Amino acid sequence: MDCLFCKIIAGEIPSAKVYEDDTVFAFRDIEPQAPVHVLIVPKEHIASANEINESNSAVVAHIFEVAAKIAKDEGLTDGYRIVNNCGDSAGQTVKHLHFHLMGGRNFTWPAG
Ligand code: 5GP
Ligand code: ZN
Repeated sequence: MDCLFCKIIAGEIPSAKVYEDDTVFAFRDIEPQAPVHVLIVPKEHIASANEINESNSAVVAHIFEVAAKIAKDEGLTDGYRIVNNCGDSAGQTVKHLHFHLMGGRNFTWPAG
């Protein structure tokens, strides 16, 4: 499958890895939008949040456990933002489910 994040998970494309276990992989965004900007992805190829269902949703819960751990490791004691872009109008550019963990600056709301 021609998927950028599957290739990063497989090590075929280099990345700055932050965390890895049996089901989850996390690495620094190549174009960071905040001092800390980590992408947290399931190792299983799930195209978007719209493809989360009963059979694959456990990894999403695990991703949020991992996010809290990374936030702590990165020293984000003041807060952080977790973002998922789902589909074209939301600006999803890579069709492999990923959560942006961003911190180290203040954020506005609602997000543009
Ligand atoms: P999306 O726009 O789909 O929500 O987020 C995709 C993210 O992947 C973007 O923030 C973009 O900077 C990041 N990205 C795209 N290509 C690469 C890459 O080759 N390596 C890394 N580390 N991040 C990438
Ligand atoms: Zn993939």
